[in-house]
Amino acid sequence: MVYYNQGMNTKIYKINYDNRDAFGIASDSEEYMKEAGELIADGELVAFPTETVYGLGGDALHPEAAKKIYAAKGRPSDNPLIIHIAEISDLERVAREVPPQARLLAEAFWPGPLTMVVWKKDEVPYATTGGLETVAVRMPNHPVALELIRKSGKLIAAPSANTSGRPSPTEAAHVAEDLSGRIAMILDGGSVGIGIESTIIDLTEQTPMVLRPGYITPQMLSEVLGEEVIIDPGILATDDTTKPKAPGMKYKHYAPKADMVIVDGEKSVVIEEINRLTTEAQAAGRKVAVIATEETRESYCADIVLSMGKREDEDSIAQHMYKILRDCDDLDVQEIYSESFQTPRIGQAIMNRLLKAAGHQVIHV
Ligand code: AMP
Ligand code: MG
Repeated sequence: MVYYNQGMNTKIYKINYDNRDAFGIASDSEEYMKEAGELIADGELVAFPTETVYGLGGDALHPEAAKKIYAAKGRPSDNPLIIHIAEISDLERVAREVPPQARLLAEAFWPGPLTMVVWKKDEVPYATTGGLETVAVRMPNHPVALELIRKSGKLIAAPSANTSGRPSPTEAAHVAEDLSGRIAMILDGGSVGIGIESTIIDLTEQTPMVLRPGYITPQMLSEVLGEEVIIDPGILATDDTTKPKAPGMKYKHYAPKADMVIVDGEKSVVIEEINRLTTEAQAAGRKVAVIATEETRESYCADIVLSMGKREDEDSIAQHMYKILRDCDDLDVQEIYSESFQTPRIGQAIMNRLLKAAGHQVIHV
């Protein structure tokens, strides 16, 4: 365990960029990007925006940088980091061999919210892979992330830039809340676009397997590969009997401080049940937050009602989820009742996070 200097002065720079152009860093932000790249090259840590969530970056091939990442986050050292690259060809720098499926998927989805697990090269330190022989790699689709990788001249290992166990950060203020004083710099690129972590696909076995659901669905992957893609049974299990293959998926993640329960069922019955639970909790002197949608927000009697957006707008639900869980912590509520979000496309990814936040407490009505 490395005991990290908590009194460090964390610089926070607002980066201006053009979202339509992956090289579009505004000239007034160039200096900051250069400084950030130098810090990474020096083995220091820089938090940066990606299209999924904010990442906490360090030199991927430098074991000491990886150790600093674990220390700053308070992350268990068996939970491997994802290596971020800025060119598809850099996959060859970390993969022992590049499976044909990886080439197909990279062409279809990179830069983008897809992480691929492949066998690692010797150059990739065990500190980065949490002791595994495999390595997770992704090319992010965000101009600031890509420019940071290029400016540093390194490959960047980065987990989400939150304290271990807290919701992933979707804006720079969340990173500052968790990591100020523990890292050298935060690049503020505004709110992220997607709001949930990348899909992880394992390409080291006979059949490609999704280890973590995300914005890119098994159907989309299967279509590109022209073969079946399975889902790790360990992430679908609601008990501890089947272990997930991605080490990070076994930890109780994303948990708000309050006790959280998801109520699932037909709209009017859900509203009725949540209001009944709320009244009961309030009578016992407890402060209640409800996680709702634009359509239902007016229907609840809780102290605080937080809206994920319109129910049919799945992207909005994903974007708002982590911020809302953080808000619940800041508002000091003791009970959270949430609607269920089994939406058609990314519902599986959303519910995977929400169920963890709720410790799998679900009431079906
Ligand atoms: P984070 O970047 O915080 O979302 O965490 C990275 C996720 O990727 C964790 O869930 C890790 O367990 C997973 N991961 C990273 N490398 C590997 C690997 N080689 N095999 C399986 N899962 C991995
Ligand atoms: Mg994380």
